Amino acid sequence: MKREFERNVRIAIAPICNMNCIYCVGDNRKIGNRRVAAMEDIRNTPLSCGCISTAQLLEMLKIFYKVGFNGISLTGGEPMINDEWDYIIDSAADIGFTRREITTNGLLLGKYCIAHKGLPKLTTIKVSFDTADKDSFNTITGGNNFDTVVNSVRIASKYIENIRANRVMLKDKMDDLGDYLEFCSENGFASANLMELYAYPDENWSVEERNFFISQYVPYQKTYEALVELGVIDESRHRYGHSVQLHNGFKVLATDSTYTIRDAECKSCKVFCQQGKFTVRIATDGTITMCPNFNGNLYSINGIECLENGTLEKKLQPMFESLAYTPEENAFQDFLDRHHIEV
Ligand code: SF4
Repeated sequence: MKREFERNVRIAIAPICNMNCIYCVGDNRKIGNRRVAAMEDIRNTPLSCGCISTAQLLEMLKIFYKVGFNGISLTGGEPMINDEWDYIIDSAADIGFTRREITTNGLLLGKYCIAHKGLPKLTTIKVSFDTADKDSFNTITGGNNFDTVVNSVRIASKYIENIRANRVMLKDKMDDLGDYLEFCSENGFASANLMELYAYPDENWSVEERNFFISQYVPYQKTYEALVELGVIDESRHRYGHSVQLHNGFKVLATDSTYTIRDAECKSCKVFCQQGKFTVRIATDGTITMCPNFNGNLYSINGIECLENGTLEKKLQPMFESLAYTPEENAFQDFLDRHHIEV
């Protein structure tokens, strides 16, 4: 049965970041001895091969739109490092994409709004904002960033309604959930997205990362119980989890790993990730893939090569169809069993 969910293409437009968050592992790519954060930039080639041009990306996006994708999400690295991020958003609007989102750490957002007296045609800004505690925030992000990010959100909220705080739920931090949501609602955020901690148990998964996951993972049910204590007036299902409204009207989205879609290739995948396939991604080298991980089994294509030889539409169509038609399954217990994890 076809599911009527709308689909965003997730596009990494910068292969590096201007923060140094402790949880950001990327693919362990390095410049000198510094690890380069680029968690969602799932390239098939080394960084030294360079990045695709904006013109090439926009040509690819026209074909994504043609096959049925109707939203884009800019990611990275930090997407605002790419000077043309605003041009990409406005061009996506011209192509016809109705949802135009950016996931940013917020460091450059306020500066941009002041310099341009506004924002491009964005529909949602998602800001990685794990805690409202200044010291913890600065520790997590590896710098003195709290005031800049909070000011950025306040400034940007004058120009756009939909700014969402992204927070990864951790067992150790459950106690401050109420204070966190209150801070968000009073400082320019329209909603918060409480995300499950994700594990990618590939060959790079260290013992420390494994132990961290086991000790800190919070399932949606526990998040929901904490939200009920804060006063829930409504809960409904959305694409990756649930949408919950609190008694003060603040909207909270929460991801839920028990809803995933998998291809046959997932069954033999050594990673067997927690998320499964949930959208299509374009990396900064033009790689197009559905795996949320560098070492997964789902096939990836060279977007530029396909664009040049005229096969991109033919290659993308089955990806789009597979998102719409593959049935959901609860593979979370399989994921735990396969990796001998008890949470
Ligand atoms: S093939 Fe990709 S989406 Fe499927 S389980 Fe492996 S990493 Fe995850």
